[in-house]
Amino acid sequence: MNDRSNRPVPRSDSLPGSRTLSRRRFMTLMGAGIMASPMGIAQAAALAGARVVHQETVSLHIDIDGQVTDPSLFSLDSPPRLVIDLHGTVASAALSPVEYESGPVARVRYGQQAGGVMRVVVDLRRSVSPSYRIVERGSGQRLLIDLGVRGDPALASASHRIVEGGPLRDAIVAIDAGHGGKDPGAIGQRQTREKDIVLAVARRLYKRLSATRGVTPVMTRDSDHYIALRERIEMARDKHADVFVSVHADAFKRLTAHGSSVYALSRDGASSEAAAWLAKSENESAALFGDVALDGLEPTLRQTLLDLAQNTTLEASMDVGNEVLAKLKQVGAVHKPQVEQANFAVLKSPDIPSILVETAFISNLQEEKKLNDPRFQHQLAEAIGDGVSRFLARRAPDGTLLAAERRRAADRG
Ligand SMILES: [Zn+2]
Repeated sequence: MNDRSNRPVPRSDSLPGSRTLSRRRFMTLMGAGIMASPMGIAQAAALAGARVVHQETVSLHIDIDGQVTDPSLFSLDSPPRLVIDLHGTVASAALSPVEYESGPVARVRYGQQAGGVMRVVVDLRRSVSPSYRIVERGSGQRLLIDLGVRGDPALASASHRIVEGGPLRDAIVAIDAGHGGKDPGAIGQRQTREKDIVLAVARRLYKRLSATRGVTPVMTRDSDHYIALRERIEMARDKHADVFVSVHADAFKRLTAHGSSVYALSRDGASSEAAAWLAKSENESAALFGDVALDGLEPTLRQTLLDLAQNTTLEASMDVGNEVLAKLKQVGAVHKPQVEQANFAVLKSPDIPSILVETAFISNLQEEKKLNDPRFQHQLAEAIGDGVSRFLARRAPDGTLLAAERRRAADRG
């Protein structure tokens, strides 16, 4: 038996038996170190939402924070619909129905049932032959339901896909103050510690973005403690970040080096990360690369989908980087006139546009002094915040308030 294959979804008259996860599969998930916490099963899982995705086939991605131990799926006829019951699950926020203009899915709606069951109902335009599987994603899971009908590439582009039916969400910006705790980062000639300066700037950036309509910032750390680089990526993913900004201060042995820099991930960094993911995706636990479902695909197709996903993210990272750099140029000197690319681990999210900002050189005596100046910290935070906001105004994803406003503005012509 191929443990990775999709399991078919029964008709409503053949519910019992095939709907529970097999013990073997459950053990596989346990064995892969998937349980977010020892209490993972006892705590209610939270449904974050569902999306319709067009790849070679049409699928529904349902994101859950926590563990779904026993999802029940069944199909109904006249009118055709698919029902998904998630046991021990609540909605993480009020979820309103989302309608789709075209494609096999007409609408997705949600209802909390008695006994802690979250019900997701998918209203269909045609009958489908669904199957499903569960893949791990951060500290939660994604239920991937393949509807078994061909995807339409024309419907794959996000901008045409969703007619907003529910409340619009804010775009999420993950702010990552570099270093912390046992890792002080670079240290200036006057003993200024990078970890303190970048936290001060990050807090100001948080304040700046909190005051921005349609944007909710989150911080990877808001105190002086150590976080591993991979953990920072996972935190951003768990918060469903749309943009990731890591804040640092530079240091160089040539003490006159000065100015701000903005980095995005290098091609080398991206391809080595893709190779690692491809290797890991041999295990069920790493079957998702960003939003791309990898398992069950041919190796060449996997590679192609990975390249596509990475190119899109890299291009967006360069875009937000350019916006931020343009604003930083108005604040003071920049070290390099364009966005640089480097193999920084913290920039390796496959699906979140990510930049690293070196605010100034802490190793330069003058800039060390400026970095300690609340006015300069404020200017840096404003510049980064302005740049990110400009990017989001153009490119915040569907389902956000900013995307809806952009579409309305475009409709007005
Ligand atoms: Zn640093």
